[in-house]
Amino acid sequence: MQYPEPISKLIDSFMKLPGIGPKTAVRLAFFVLSMKEDVVLDFAKALVNAKRNLTYCKICGHITDQDPCYICEDKRRDQSVICVVQDPKDVIAMEKMKEYQGLYHVLHGAISPMDGIGPEDIKISELLKRLQDDQVVEVILATNPNIEGEATAMYISRLLKPTGIKLSRIAHGLPVGGDLEYADEVTLSKALEGRREM
Ligand SMILES: [Zn+2]
Repeated sequence: MQYPEPISKLIDSFMKLPGIGPKTAVRLAFFVLSMKEDVVLDFAKALVNAKRNLTYCKICGHITDQDPCYICEDKRRDQSVICVVQDPKDVIAMEKMKEYQGLYHVLHGAISPMDGIGPEDIKISELLKRLQDDQVVEVILATNPNIEGEATAMYISRLLKPTGIKLSRIAHGLPVGGDLEYADEVTLSKALEGRREM
């Protein structure tokens, strides 16, 4: 059966989202049709505003509506520690835990030769640049506990070894193969506490 064009366009749009297959896309599209117009308008505005008003912090790479972000701007935070994560969502997960007081660096990915992603495709050189001033004494590698995350942590640790900066890797106890963003606060807090030197 052919859908009228506005609906098939809406279905196609939903299918661009991760984890949305054709069946879910159809269900969502028809749900939108049943919504009140002002609610749909608010939803559409929220989408556009999120895209227009958010940018990546030029220092740490976290998603933000002010540049530098509120974390980099906060001088009460410990400027001597940088926690390296793969994704802005990981910063949010760490911040929820309310224990970590240092700064972040978001790599925007992980090294994955299988997917053709090398060190130059993620924000490693930006990290090295940040480490050039002597303020930072510890780098915590909090990449995901899977193959790509481990490979990335190893790569960065080899690069940083000669600098003498203290390097640590968050402890296991995080579900192996999992994503940092899905770890609960207690697990994440234990993983941070139990970080080991590399
Ligand atoms: Zn920042």
